[in-house]
Amino acid sequence: MPLGEFELIARYFTRPGRRGDVLLGVGDDAALLDVPAGQTLVAATDTLVEGRHFLADAPPQSVGHQALAVNLSDLAAMGAQPAWALLALSVPDADEAWIDGFSRGFHALADAFGVELVGGDTVRGARIVTIQALGFVPPGEALKRSGARPGDVLYVSGTVGDAAAGLELARRCDPGAMDATLLRRHQYAEPRVALGIALRGVASAAIDVSDGLLGDLGKLCRASGVSAVVQLERLPLSRALLEGFGATAAERMALAGGDDYELLFTLSASAAPAIEPTLAACCSITRIGVIGAGRGIRCFRSGLEVEQEVAGHDHFAA
Ligand code: ADP
Ligand code: MG
Repeated sequence: MPLGEFELIARYFTRPGRRGDVLLGVGDDAALLDVPAGQTLVAATDTLVEGRHFLADAPPQSVGHQALAVNLSDLAAMGAQPAWALLALSVPDADEAWIDGFSRGFHALADAFGVELVGGDTVRGARIVTIQALGFVPPGEALKRSGARPGDVLYVSGTVGDAAAGLELARRCDPGAMDATLLRRHQYAEPRVALGIALRGVASAAIDVSDGLLGDLGKLCRASGVSAVVQLERLPLSRALLEGFGATAAERMALAGGDDYELLFTLSASAAPAIEPTLAACCSITRIGVIGAGRGIRCFRSGLEVEQEVAGHDHFAA
């Protein structure tokens, strides 16, 4: 007999408390949470819809991981330390194998970042996962999109384009041809929490790359009222991406593909040299350009300007 709603919640989403700041977790009408004195609460929410953000045949573990990862990436982009999550889960049926895999993917990532699941909702419907992630940052130290200034240096963490390539491979449904590294980058993003924290009080602006590097850089530039120059030959491209797709497609995926969940950030040119080693201890970082006055983004390859389509992903674009 399939499990009912409350058995599902009890079996898959109720676990022993792991944080002293959860006064009341799953089980009552709402959670009671103790925000540490002198900290600012940081809240983010993101939804994943089957067929739009994950393929119907995606491993359920990857969906559980990714639904939390994209939210932790938003917290990372604010410089926040993650603490708690709420999970609203809509599933077409009480398919225990799917929910079991989903919950294992979710809990593994939550444990890795010390995040406690403190509540949620479980309903029947199309497969849609909404998570709310909550964390803390010391007052005044949150990273914002709006502080970049002309002359600042532009950086991106990790490598870009891999997740778009992984999606392409998953769509082709050819397991033999699938490069495990690229597929993993598409299904199991690594939120850059340590880097975000290291950037507190240091970065002039930051955003996570979820909708394509140029699209998200455009958002940062608009929020800051600045322009940017990107040197395309500096884009950090993985060997797996270059070997699997070639230089031209790799560059296109790096600029316009989504779901990399890397951090794009700016440092003042004077502060950059001293802080770079500390940041690089968290994960690789690469200077890819500079911030200027005015508006817009210009791309150069080996000194020559290259026209680029700058549109990022827009769910409601015609
Ligand atoms: P209510 O009807 O008051 O909204 P529910 O019966 O929906 O409460 O949920 C019971 C408890 O289980 C609540 O504490 C809720 O936060 C929690 N909960 C429900 N679904 C989930 C889930 N998918 N993950 C974590 N907690 C959940
Ligand atoms: Mg409810």
